[in-house]
Amino acid sequence: MKIFHQPGELQAYALECKRSGKRIALVPTMGFLHAGHASLIDIARERGDEVIVSIFVNPTQFAPNEDLDKYPRDFENDCRLCEAHGATAVFAPAPESMYASDRSIWVDETTLSKVLCGKSRPIHFRGVLTVVSKLFNLALPDVAVFGKKDAQQAIIIKRMVRDLNFPVEIVLGDLIRDTDNVAMSSRNRYLSEDERRRARSISESVFYAEKQLKAQGVAAVDEVVEYARKHITEAGGVVDYVEVRDSSDLEAPTASSCGVLFAVAAVFGTTRLIDNCFVDF
Ligand code: AMP
Repeated sequence: MKIFHQPGELQAYALECKRSGKRIALVPTMGFLHAGHASLIDIARERGDEVIVSIFVNPTQFAPNEDLDKYPRDFENDCRLCEAHGATAVFAPAPESMYASDRSIWVDETTLSKVLCGKSRPIHFRGVLTVVSKLFNLALPDVAVFGKKDAQQAIIIKRMVRDLNFPVEIVLGDLIRDTDNVAMSSRNRYLSEDERRRARSISESVFYAEKQLKAQGVAAVDEVVEYARKHITEAGGVVDYVEVRDSSDLEAPTASSCGVLFAVAAVFGTTRLIDNCFVDF
């Protein structure tokens, strides 16, 4: 498995792969990899001859009050996991090599990124879209794999690829949960044992919502939102949002919606957790 730290090196390698007719699959990550990330690498392995995993804690998607500096890192373990799952290259750049000090170009989205996580993290998706665009230009992927865990991110990236005509197929991997049903996340390592136990109220709310929405359609929206708010708050969580939105455009769902996204963000201790489910009608 190759390891690149310089953007130019990765791009030269990707161009070489392209010239020899190889299909490139990219899995963008921020590292501290777990089984959720591994499942995306497995999907990439099935779809590409070359599997490039990027490991980059992207500073532009963190606001000054967020956890950029304490974001967990373990590069050696990440490389072991990538290799074990068949990655052919890891790209781990330093922030300075990705961003010129006088950078002045951003990729921004103006509708989908204003709701859900975008409300409490107003610059987040601009940072994500800018770095994902850069990664697409460096790794030249035919296919890029993202997780449904970050549902709004996945929807916005699909919109970017459509609106800017990136020649990249976007594939989404299912949300992977731990044995206690908590959605796997690098940030789970911030949780104390007690917070972790109480954080199960989030996935419990997701399962409840999934069941009710499947049974009753959009008629269940108000009830599942109310249930989740109460259940998570009673467990000691501070709810950022609990919402049901049309999964095609993140607007309010209507009787003619073909599918919805039930999405939750809540803080336990100092850790902000997200979880969700998609329900198709
Ligand atoms: P991150 O390292 O948190 O930026 O995530 C990198 C990619 O892995 C994103 O596409 C995430 O949606 C995905 N991912 C993170 N956690 C999970 C999970 N529990 N299940 C599936 N995909 C995940």
